Amino acid sequence: MSRFELIRKRMVEQQLSDIADARVLQAMAEVPRHSFVDEVLRPRAYDDGPLPIGKKQTISQPWIVARMTELLCLEGDETVLEVGTGSGYQAAVLSSLCRRVVTLERHGDLARDAGRRIEALGMRNITVLASDGSLGRSEYGPYDAILVTAAAPEVPEPLLNQLASGGRLVVPLGDLHSQVLHRFTRDGDSYSLRDEAFEACRFVPLLGRLGFQEER
Ligand code: SAM
Repeated sequence: MSRFELIRKRMVEQQLSDIADARVLQAMAEVPRHSFVDEVLRPRAYDDGPLPIGKKQTISQPWIVARMTELLCLEGDETVLEVGTGSGYQAAVLSSLCRRVVTLERHGDLARDAGRRIEALGMRNITVLASDGSLGRSEYGPYDAILVTAAAPEVPEPLLNQLASGGRLVVPLGDLHSQVLHRFTRDGDSYSLRDEAFEACRFVPLLGRLGFQEER
C-alpha cells in the first residue's frame, strides 16, 4: 500500500465514521484526493478541511463531499449533474457511483484543469463543461440527481425543471456566511417536491445568472 493509500484509509476511518453508505465510503477510499490539489498542498490533501484550488475557490472538506454524495442515494444507474466542478474531485467520487456525471464550472481554467485530471485518471463517464451552472444544462438531462457544491440563495428554477421524476437535488441554501444542506426530492411524476434540511455548512457562493450577484 502506498503512503497516500494509507493516509486515505485513515481519513475514511477517522473523518467519515458517521457516513453510513458503504459505496460512498468505498469511493472515498479509492479516489486519490492528492491528485486534485496543487503539488505543494499534497501533504495536506487528506486533512479534515477544504483547500485552495485557485481563483479564490476551494476543494471541499472530505466529510462534506461524502455527506452530500450519501444524500443523493445513488444506486449505480443514474445520470448526475454537479454544479461547481472546482478541482474535479467530487465528480471523480461520483464517477464510480452512477452511470454518467455532467459537471459544470463557471471558471474556464478550473474546468480545463479538472478535465485533465479526470482524463489522467481514466474516468470516462464524466463530462466537464465550462458553463453557468445556475442554469443547468437541459440537453444532458433530465437528471436523477443534482448536486450543487456552492452556496445558493435559493434553488435555481432551471435545476428543479431538469430533475427527473423521483430525482434528488442536494444544495447548500442560505446567505454568504452560512448555509444549511437541503435535499429536494421530486415526488414521482408530479411537480411537488419534498424538502428536507440537514447539517449547517459553509460554501463559497454560487454566482452566475441565478446565483448570488458578483461584487463590482
Ligand atoms: N466540487 C468541487 C471540488 O470537488 O473541488 C468544489 C466546489 S467549490 C466549493 C465551488 C465551485 O463552484 C467553484 O469552483 C466555483 O467557481 C463554482 N461555481 C460558482 N458559481 C458557479 C456557477 N454559476 N456555475 C458553475 N460553477 C460555479
